[in-house]
Amino acid sequence: MSKNKDTELADKLAEVGRRVGQAITDAMERIRPAIDAVAEAANRPEVRAVIDRAEKLVARRPCLCFCPRAHPADHDICEPFDAVVTGQLSSELLGDLDVPLCAPCAAARAARKFAS
Ligand SMILES: [Zn+2]
Ligand SMILES: [Zn+2]
Repeated sequence: MSKNKDTELADKLAEVGRRVGQAITDAMERIRPAIDAVAEAANRPEVRAVIDRAEKLVARRPCLCFCPRAHPADHDICEPFDAVVTGQLSSELLGDLDVPLCAPCAAARAARKFAS
């Protein structure tokens, strides 16, 4: 008797397990197109280009040149997110500081230094 009950319980558990497993499988099948779409989108060249650009932008250093003061003659040449060299910023408050500068700013500052 009790043996039968155990078998019954085992069968019920197995059935519940099978149903849960099926439900999970069904759910996965239902959201799979969405997952595939995202994975596919991430591999598309235009999407990859946007991701690459965002990553580069994050990795880049901003130009911290005070253009209007450092080189007022050509203050619009700055590439604000493309600092490639470290320059000196002379500040009355903080003294000489090392600051990242973009190439055009560094050149303009050097030119102004030579000119003065
Ligand atoms: Zn500048
Ligand atoms: Zn700059």
